Amino acid sequence: MSHLLDIVENTVYPFPPKPVPLSDEEKLTYVANIKKLLVEKDAVLIAHYYTDPEIQALAEETGGFVGDSLEMAKFGNRHPAKTLIIAGVRFMGESAKILTPEKTILMPTLEAECSLDLGCPADKFSEFCDQHPDHTVVVYANTSAAVKARADWVVTSSIALEIVEHLDAEDKPIIWGPDRHLGSYISNKTGADMLLWNGECIVHDEFSSDALRKMKSVYPEAAILVHPESPASVVELADSVGSTSQLIKAAKELPHKQMIVATDKGIFFKMQQMVPEKELIEAPTAGAGATCRSCAHCPWMAMNGLKQIEAALAEGGKEHEIFVDEELRVKSLIPLNRMLDFAEQLNVQVKGNA
Ligand code: SF4
Repeated sequence: MSHLLDIVENTVYPFPPKPVPLSDEEKLTYVANIKKLLVEKDAVLIAHYYTDPEIQALAEETGGFVGDSLEMAKFGNRHPAKTLIIAGVRFMGESAKILTPEKTILMPTLEAECSLDLGCPADKFSEFCDQHPDHTVVVYANTSAAVKARADWVVTSSIALEIVEHLDAEDKPIIWGPDRHLGSYISNKTGADMLLWNGECIVHDEFSSDALRKMKSVYPEAAILVHPESPASVVELADSVGSTSQLIKAAKELPHKQMIVATDKGIFFKMQQMVPEKELIEAPTAGAGATCRSCAHCPWMAMNGLKQIEAALAEGGKEHEIFVDEELRVKSLIPLNRMLDFAEQLNVQVKGNA
C-alpha cells in the first residue's frame, strides 16, 4: 500500500542547452589532450552508462570504468589514482566524494543535475520526515548528500526490493523518496506501507505505454526491458524490469533476438557490446507524431562532453571540483554503509540506479 505525497508540485525543469557538436578533428584533439592529462594529473575517467558513447569508449580505453552510479563510486574508491573525473550528474560526484574523501573529485560540469535530486530539496524533505517520526526513511541514491544524511537507508534500484521487504517484515512504515514510480513499483511488489515523495525522472517518466504497445505490434518477437523509474503502465508491459546493470544482464540472458529498451539510450553502447548479435530498439517516449522533451536521453548527462572533460582536467578548481561538508559526509555515509553491509550479508552485488 502506498500513498503519494503532494508536497512538491510537479515541476517542469528548464533543460540545459544542448552541447555544440564537435567536428571529427576537434574530437581527435580533445581525446589526445585528455589522454595526456589523465596521466599527468594521475586521474581516471569514470563514466555513467547514460553518457555519450564516445565518453564511455574513452573511459574504457584509458583504463577507467563505465557503470551504474554506485559502481562508479566504488570503482573510484578502489582505483589508485589521486583524482577521479566523474562523467555523470552531480549526485554521482557527491557519492564518490562521500565514499572517497581523500581524493580530488572532478566533474566535466557541476551544472549537470538530475530531476530526482532537484525535486527533493533537503529542507522540505527533512521537514516531512520530522512530521512522521515513526517512519523509516529510505532514499534512492539519486539524491543530494544532505538528503542522504537525513535518511536511515540509502538504496539503489538493484537492492531496494530486498531492503523494503526486510523493513516491512519488521512492521516498519516507510517514507520513500524521491522517485514515485520506483516507490510505487516496490510497494506493489512487497505490499509494504510506504509514503512516496512525488519525484520523477524526466527521462523515464516520458515512456508511453500506448506507443510501446504499438511498437510491440511491429516487433511481436521482441522482449521489452523497462527501468522501474518508468510509469506503472509501462512496467506492466515488461518482460524484464530492473536497474541499468540488471537490464544489460537481462538483454544477455533472455532468448529474444530483439529488445525494446525503455531507459536512457546511452545504455545502448554497453548493452550492444554484451549482445552484438541482438537488435536493440529504443522504446517510444511519446505517441507517433508527438514531441518529447528528453527523447530518451538525459539532457544533463548530455552535458558531459570531451571539451568539458578536458577543461576539468586542465583547470580543476571550483568550476569542476566536488566538495561535501565533512559533517554531512560522515552522516550520509551511515545510511550508505547500512545498505552496503546489508548487501554483503545477502551477498547481493549492489549496483547504482540511473
Ligand atoms: S536519467 Fe533521470 S534519474 Fe538519471 S540523471 Fe537524468 S534525470 Fe536523473
